[in-house]
Amino acid sequence: MTLIDLTPRVTENDRLSTLPVAIIGAGPIGLAAAAHLVERGIDFLLFESGGRAGASVRAWGHTRLFSPWKHLVDPASRRLLEARGWELPEPERAPTGTELVERYVAPLAELDEIASRTRLGVQVVAVTREGMDRTRTRGRATTPFALRIRTTDGDVEEVIARAVIDASGTYLSPNPLSSSGLELLGMSDIADAVSPALPDVLGRDRTRFSGRRTTVVGAGHSAANTLLALVELVRQEPGTSVAWLIRNAQAVRVSSSADDELADRARLGSRVDQAVADGVITVIDGFEIIRARRGPGGERVELVGHRDGELVTHVTDVVVNATGFRPDLDMLREIRLELDEIVEAPKRLAPLIDPNVHSCGTVEPHGFSELTHPEKGFFIVGMKSYGRAPTFLLATGYEQVRSVTAWLAGDLTSASQVELTLPATGVCSTGLGDGDGCCS
Ligand SMILES: Cc1cc2nc3c(=O)[nH]c(=O)nc-3n(C[C@H](O)[C@H](O)[C@H](O)COP(=O)(O)OP(=O)(O)OC[C@H]3O[C@@H](n4cnc5c(N)ncnc54)[C@H](O)[C@@H]3O)c2cc1C
Repeated sequence: MTLIDLTPRVTENDRLSTLPVAIIGAGPIGLAAAAHLVERGIDFLLFESGGRAGASVRAWGHTRLFSPWKHLVDPASRRLLEARGWELPEPERAPTGTELVERYVAPLAELDEIASRTRLGVQVVAVTREGMDRTRTRGRATTPFALRIRTTDGDVEEVIARAVIDASGTYLSPNPLSSSGLELLGMSDIADAVSPALPDVLGRDRTRFSGRRTTVVGAGHSAANTLLALVELVRQEPGTSVAWLIRNAQAVRVSSSADDELADRARLGSRVDQAVADGVITVIDGFEIIRARRGPGGERVELVGHRDGELVTHVTDVVVNATGFRPDLDMLREIRLELDEIVEAPKRLAPLIDPNVHSCGTVEPHGFSELTHPEKGFFIVGMKSYGRAPTFLLATGYEQVRSVTAWLAGDLTSASQVELTLPATGVCSTGLGDGDGCCS
């Protein structure tokens, strides 16, 4: 007689389906992913390294966004919030970062369905497959992910998940000042004179810049915002001066463009142009920084670089690093990623956003299929999905997470129907390369 074992077998797939999805980062995009998972009835855990949701946006909270409210709110998040009586702020007005957090990000994060699954002050330091480094292939797709996390107390533990959505942004990993992309030689000598991008020049950080010479390094919108704040400080505080140091021959990215439907952004460019024409901002173009050191007496900072084929020195008091951001890939060392070799964005997304060819926020609709990696169930979304490209818009990220969460729910039809209507942005940049890329 043959005995049949009737004990239910727990397969790896069954086990996976009992686990939560892990979301890294409670910025606007991580929270939008959470909202979509709530709507789909899928369990998740959301990890945020900051003490509060929207930590990175809070850091540049004094800065006004260029998109109006109507482009800044995720549809699923809006449905959850409106069910609790929330109302969309003035649709045509662009908020500051602080307003975005206080009137949208924080209320969203505080919804019970999301707050109860969120761990604040917890940094994800690494992601892998449970018991498998990246070289192991057999059974990989059905093995849970393991996330190593560190709390603010320094405790380290591991949690397992069926899938991972990395929405950790790029704000915490700025590019170095050096034009080579490596840590600037001599950086440790001048570190106390270097400010991260987007300091609050007229508020919190005023004393750092007042009555001093500041050099803003970088050609993007972050640089433009800081330059304009410094121009205002020059008017208010005698002895304040501002230099703008860029490696390209021209700061094309912030030049004003009549094609830009984001009018606030176009105005930003024209105001910088005007301050340069008025002589308030001194432009030092074509300068490739190679090292830094303290000047005689240790007071001033000297940036040494190549300009017009010669080795030259630029002397200043304070340096603002507005050279842009890059994705933190160290934490993903054990994950099989397929990234573009230039932009460090997912391979199929990169051609749509490569700043050598595309220089504006306009992008084709895209979703899970462009964001898929060889590591099944692992997705990079939001600002981080753009790698080193600077043109990410929230509306793009909201559609990304709608598609990815539909895929996680097994709803391939919805996951594949990607739709995205973005304002035309005629802002051009040469970004990483030397081309004159422009989207129309
Ligand atoms: C000055 C400025 C103005 C902008 N204006 C606009 C605009 O007008 N319109 C627009 O559409 N877009 C704008 N953007 C671009 C973009 O929409 C924002 O950068 C947006 O904040 C990106 O959202 P995110 O959720 O992808 O990343 P973030 O907002 O950066 O959120 C990432 C979160 O992850 C957390 N985190 C990071 N690493 C870890 C980790 N290892 N473990 C756990 N948590 C982690 C961070 O603390 C942070 O809270 C602007 C950006 C800047 C900087």
